[in-house]
Amino acid sequence: MNLSFDMGLNLEAEQDKIYDVIIIGSGPAGLSAAIYAGRAYLDTMMLTGDKIGGQVALTHEVENFPGFPEGVAGPELVQRWQAQAERFGAILQIDSTTAVDLSQRPFRLTGYNGEYRARALIIATGAAPRKLDVPGEKELIGRGVSYCATCDGWFFREKEVVMVGGGDSAVEEALFLTKYARKVTIIHRRDQLRAGPTLQKRAFANEKIEFIWNAIVTEIIGEGGVKALRLKNTRSGEEWEHATNGIFVSIGHVPNTGLFKDQLEIDEHGYLVTDGHMATSVEGVWAAGEVTDSVFRQMITSAGMGAAAAIQVQRWLDEQEGEIVAPQVPTTPG
Ligand code: NAP
Repeated sequence: MNLSFDMGLNLEAEQDKIYDVIIIGSGPAGLSAAIYAGRAYLDTMMLTGDKIGGQVALTHEVENFPGFPEGVAGPELVQRWQAQAERFGAILQIDSTTAVDLSQRPFRLTGYNGEYRARALIIATGAAPRKLDVPGEKELIGRGVSYCATCDGWFFREKEVVMVGGGDSAVEEALFLTKYARKVTIIHRRDQLRAGPTLQKRAFANEKIEFIWNAIVTEIIGEGGVKALRLKNTRSGEEWEHATNGIFVSIGHVPNTGLFKDQLEIDEHGYLVTDGHMATSVEGVWAAGEVTDSVFRQMITSAGMGAAAAIQVQRWLDEQEGEIVAPQVPTTPG
C-alpha cells in the first residue's frame, strides 16, 4: 500500500500503475468510500464520471443529511465531500468508465482518458433518471423536456410547466420550480402521492401548484420546443391535450449497471446483487449506493454503504497481502 499522498495524476504513468482500489462513481457512496479508503492509507483513485457528485450535485437543497440543521445545497455538500476525500489522498479523476474487465486481477478499466488497473473495485455508479418512453420525449430533451428541475428550472421563468411523478423527488422539484414558473401542474398516475407528508403538505399549500390525478403522458407534442402533452386518464381511458411550455419527468431511477452485464450478478430489476457486506458476485469487487439499493435510496444510506465497502476492501487487501507475501518468504532448506 502506498502511504504517500499523491495529489496529481500522470496519465502516461497510469498504464503501469496498480491502485489498491478504484471507485467508479462520485455520488454519496463513491465519495464516502473515497474518504474511508484514503484515510485507511489505500492508494485510492476515483473515476468520477463526467461530473463530480452524481445526483446530489443536481439537488437544490438537501434537508435530511445529518449535521446540516438548516439544510445544505447539493453542490456545496459535494464540494465538502470532495475536499475531505482529497485531504486523505484520494485522487479524483474526471473520466467516465467505458469498459471493465473483471475476469482477472488486477481488474482493468477503460475510460475516455486511458486505462486504469486496481486490485479492488468499488462500484458506485448510482442510477439514471427513468424516461417516460413516449413519442416526442427523445426528440425534445433539452427543448422543453427535462429530468432536472435544479438544472433547467431557470429557463421556465413565468412559464407553465408540468411535473410528472408522485414521489418525493417529483414533489420536491415541483416546489422548487414554483420559484420560477407561473404555474406547475403535477401529473400523477394515481390519486395519491407517494411523497412523504411534509412535502405533500407544502405542495397542497402552494398556490402555484395544481394536480392532475390518475393520468399518464402518452405523447409530448411540439417541434423545436414543447407545446402540449397528450394525456390519458388511467381509469376512464379518456384522452386529451394539455398545453404546456415544458415537462419535467421525475418517475424514479434505473440503476447504472450496463458496464457489468455478464460479469456480475444483477437482479431482475437491474440492481447489482451484493451480500450483507457489500460484496458482489466477483471477489475483490464491492458495490455501494443506488446501483445496488432498491429500498432506501437516500444520501445517508448510500454514504453508509460506501464507507462499509471501503472498510471491507481494506480488510480484504490486508488478507491478500498476507497471502501474497507468504510464499515469497525464503524457506530454510532442511
Ligand atoms: P420514487 O419514490 O420511486 O417515486 C417515483 C414516482 O414516479 C412514483 O410516484 C411513481 O408512481 C411514479 N412513476 C414511476 N414510473 C412511472 C411511469 N412510467 N409513469 C408515470 N409515473 C411513474 O422515486 P423518487 O421520488 O425519485 O424517490 C427515490 C427515493 O429517494 C425514495 O426513497 C425517496 O423517498 C427518496 N427521496 C427523498 C427525498 C427527501 O427525503 N427529501 C427527496 C427525493 C427523493 P406510483 O406512486 O404510482 O408508484
